[in-house]
Amino acid sequence: MTAASRPVPRPGVLDIEAYVPGKSAAPAGVKLHKLSSNETPLGPSRKAIEAFAGLAGKLELYPDGSSTKLKQAIAGRYGLDSARIICGNGSDELLELVTKGYIGEGDEGVFTEHGFLVYRIAILAAGGKPVVVAEKNYTADVDAILAAVTPKTKIVFLANPNNPTGTYLPFDEVKRLHAGLPSNVMLVLDAAYAEYVRRNDYASGLELVAESENVVMTRTFSKIYGLANLRIGWMYGPAHIIDALERIRGPFNVNGAAIEAGAAAIADEAHVAAAIEHNDKWLAWTSAELEKLGLTVTPSVGNFILIHFPTTPGRTAKEADAFLTQRGLILRGVGAYGLPGALRMTIGSEEANRLVVAALAEFLGA
Ligand SMILES: *Cc1c(COP(=O)(O)O)cnc(C)c1O
Repeated sequence: MTAASRPVPRPGVLDIEAYVPGKSAAPAGVKLHKLSSNETPLGPSRKAIEAFAGLAGKLELYPDGSSTKLKQAIAGRYGLDSARIICGNGSDELLELVTKGYIGEGDEGVFTEHGFLVYRIAILAAGGKPVVVAEKNYTADVDAILAAVTPKTKIVFLANPNNPTGTYLPFDEVKRLHAGLPSNVMLVLDAAYAEYVRRNDYASGLELVAESENVVMTRTFSKIYGLANLRIGWMYGPAHIIDALERIRGPFNVNGAAIEAGAAAIADEAHVAAAIEHNDKWLAWTSAELEKLGLTVTPSVGNFILIHFPTTPGRTAKEADAFLTQRGLILRGVGAYGLPGALRMTIGSEEANRLVVAALAEFLGA
């Protein structure tokens, strides 16, 4: 075997299409409404901002490597054992860690057709094989997922609700999925949008984690808590999985500002309630108004909607995206999710939502 003339990454690495974040620029002189990354229009709790500012005089100190204060705040809020929580630099880090810890060369990780793209990246980066399962009606299909499990499967990823579709699986279906998995296969429930869901048949998975040895749930402070810039996520899991991940994480993976602001944010339940109320109202309004324009909107339980455009030249998703961008309305193209005919829109401020509906009415000549 001849040596390569320069360093070469492990197999799989160059198969990764780097994650492309939502756009954040508008033409000069136009007011920007960023509706491309599912950020909250309400911003974070004032208490979180104060806690963040309180760190300014202590930047030379390493943070608490165990994120104790944050773990305790989370455990207190949900009635959990803090020893079964691990915090991360965004839930993305925890999704990567769990993949790195449990998927090796040739192992398989399963996720669905329009599932969150971080899973594919994490599986390939670990040297594993991504196995993509067809959805039904833009929704994960439990039977199809179970049929895709092989002796090489190590992890099944389920975003519930899913991004970018906004659809969800009722808890009964999640339990049926879990019951059908071999006990050595891990089920990762990514509940980034759990706080927004207003359905009696939904559960984020805390209960299933508590009673199983092979289920973990991830949550984030990036969405309803409005702290995406600080990068804070957490995972609740069985002690043996949390223990394994604690060994492979970076020693100071969560910074001090994140620990302080996160702990303050989770205590401010009124702020979360306001965000839910805003979303309930404008999710329904925006979906209904866009449907009146003749567009199809996939019913969403999150803080974003998937809008499907016609294929008629002059009316396509791509052209709509360009038209909206000119007006400072930045949505998210989802071609990388296998949805080239759709755009994802975050539910924004009243002003932003009204502007999008008015602009799309003009675009469609409605
Ligand atoms: C936004 C999002 C996350 C959160 O990522 P962070 O790293 O915590 O910011 C995780 N999963 C899904 C499905 C998301 O949409």
